[in-house]
Amino acid sequence: DMKRRPLVLANWKMNMTPSQVLPYLDQVIPEVEKDTGADVAIAAQDLYLAQMVKATTNTRLAIAAENAHWTDEGAYTGETSPKALAEIGVSYVLIGHFERRKLFNETDERVNLKTKAALKNGLKVIVDLDEDMSTYDTVNPNNVVLAQLRAALAGISAEELDQVAIAYEPTWAIGSGEAASATAAQKAAVLIRQSLKNLYSAGVAEKIRILYGGSVTTKNAAAFLSQNDIDGVLVGKAALDPKQFLELIDIAQ
Ligand code: PEP
Repeated sequence: DMKRRPLVLANWKMNMTPSQVLPYLDQVIPEVEKDTGADVAIAAQDLYLAQMVKATTNTRLAIAAENAHWTDEGAYTGETSPKALAEIGVSYVLIGHFERRKLFNETDERVNLKTKAALKNGLKVIVDLDEDMSTYDTVNPNNVVLAQLRAALAGISAEELDQVAIAYEPTWAIGSGEAASATAAQKAAVLIRQSLKNLYSAGVAEKIRILYGGSVTTKNAAAFLSQNDIDGVLVGKAALDPKQFLELIDIAQ
């Protein structure tokens, strides 16, 4: 069994005020530099990204966007170009987060187009798959998550997939304080990995990182991270507190 390097991704969402950004980074960077056993990234609103990239230059802390458009430029008022994100030094982009799917008409087709555009620009992508209660904790091969997975990755090569991680997030667990069980999350991760094996190859499926997201805390993170097929966590609320974020990184080592 190949050991995948864990990824701890904070998702600030539309939180944090401008004056909180640098103090947060100042607090976490020295510890992130010491904890070399996991990859660490923070996704933040676009407004903060250039400043965050600058503050983390030559550190192990990577910066992520929470969304990006599917074209490099054009008449798309209010949108953010993946080309511009790459050019300012953003490393990752989160595509297809549940809140974007639910509140901003993010369809499977757009998730696919956005993923392709981000990869083409050299950004690493975390593709977010969201499962509702109807198939939770089953091994249903018609699982909505697997349909989202196939749609998101349509036309993406095995080589490109090297730059992709998958986040499995039950919709009802996001921001609710009620996490999935670690065994149910592991079951979903196995289904996702099996599906990647069918779509690509065993080698590709073994290499790709699958994250769990949904009310991860310093109390439950170890249970998720100790599962064979869970290679990281996507953390919203708990990561707004730099101390808890550092503890989560420590747990992921
Ligand atoms: C998320 O933003 O994807 C998330 C999982 O949030 P929370 O940790 O607050 O549930």
